[in-house]
Amino acid sequence: MFRLLLLIGLGYLVYQLFSPKTARKNRNGAVPSGSAARSSGATGEKMVKCAVCGTYVPEHEALRGGPRNAQLFCSKQCRAGGRG
Ligand SMILES: [Zn+2]
Repeated sequence: MFRLLLLIGLGYLVYQLFSPKTARKNRNGAVPSGSAARSSGATGEKMVKCAVCGTYVPEHEALRGGPRNAQLFCSKQCRAGGRG
């Protein structure tokens, strides 16, 4: 009788060891093909570079300005001039 229990227990352990869902490593989100992707939380967001200070910001947060609105800025301060 005890043997049977032991066998069941062993089987369960083996099953746990080999079952694919247990104890996998934390899979870090795959980095999209962009370069500056060390951001916090943003997933799949296109990052653009501030024309003044060089900070990367998500595209939807970037402010447009400069000649023909062709430049992107991280903040109003940078857009206003950027000299500190
Ligand atoms: Zn900036």
